[in-house]
Amino acid sequence: MTRNPTVGRWAPSPTGDLHLGNLRTALLAWLFARSAGGRFLWRFEDLDGAVRPQFYDSQLRDVAALGLDWDGEPVRQSDRLDLYRDAIADLRRRDLTYECFCTRREIAEAAAAPHGPSPEGAYPGTCRRLTPAERAQRRSSGRPPALRLRVGSDGPEPTEVTVVDRQLGTYTGIVDDFVIQRGDDTPAYNLAVVVDDAAQGVNQVVRGDDLLPSTPRQVHLARLLGLDAPSFAHVPLVLGPEGRRLAKRDGAVTLRDRLALGETPVDVVNLLLSNLGLDPVTSLDDLAETTQRFNPLVLPRQPWVHAPVDSAT
Ligand code: GLU
Repeated sequence: MTRNPTVGRWAPSPTGDLHLGNLRTALLAWLFARSAGGRFLWRFEDLDGAVRPQFYDSQLRDVAALGLDWDGEPVRQSDRLDLYRDAIADLRRRDLTYECFCTRREIAEAAAAPHGPSPEGAYPGTCRRLTPAERAQRRSSGRPPALRLRVGSDGPEPTEVTVVDRQLGTYTGIVDDFVIQRGDDTPAYNLAVVVDDAAQGVNQVVRGDDLLPSTPRQVHLARLLGLDAPSFAHVPLVLGPEGRRLAKRDGAVTLRDRLALGETPVDVVNLLLSNLGLDPVTSLDDLAETTQRFNPLVLPRQPWVHAPVDSAT
């Protein structure tokens, strides 16, 4: 029996400099793909308004400076809108979507209402229940609707989907009527990621475990679209000293910051490798050997808490 060759990917948003947490996830995604003899693709997730164009190149440069490589040209989601629009049109045709006029605040209030038992963060289905007259009235109010997926046939009770994560095991999560196209007409992340992974032949997703709760939604959507879902490995985030997700305020956290401290790219790679429990390298070329020895089963399951270098003294 022949198995499909592994195709992994790294999908950053070009919204800022990559920090050690991002770089560590990139390293892991690369190690997973390369250790399986697989291809490794780069996709910019740039449908978000917070994109800043200088970071396309600087992110590529930083990751390359650490000795990681990728196959083919990086793609940008902003160049692939037709693909997402086709998928959205398909779902619309099948009557699997509806327009949602709710503000964030309305959603939070409805979800908290005592009669609306709505699991944490799940959309309570308000706009699914609009009568045609109410919908027409909301449309004429001028607020452009988002488009939500209609999940389950009767009522807005969220469906549960179980996924098997390579690192974390079985995870069961809510699939609510989630947004697939935002009010400004932009395809939503959960839609674009599913369409892209399938269109690019990605069968191995390695990413931060903050995205685990979105995974059941993505698997559900892939099934609806008749697409194969990839395998998933969610890896722990890097946290700042206060236990929050690592950020700029946490000291020397970008490659540029580390180089300014006098470190070399090899030092930075070794910092990432050491907190993953992996052997250090003496040159970036040695990373090829790291892929040979890479065993995902022994990776730490806990977040790495990064202590700022300048607070050590
Ligand atoms: N673009 C997402 C991020 O930068 C990653 C999404 C994914 O890997 O599915 O966090």
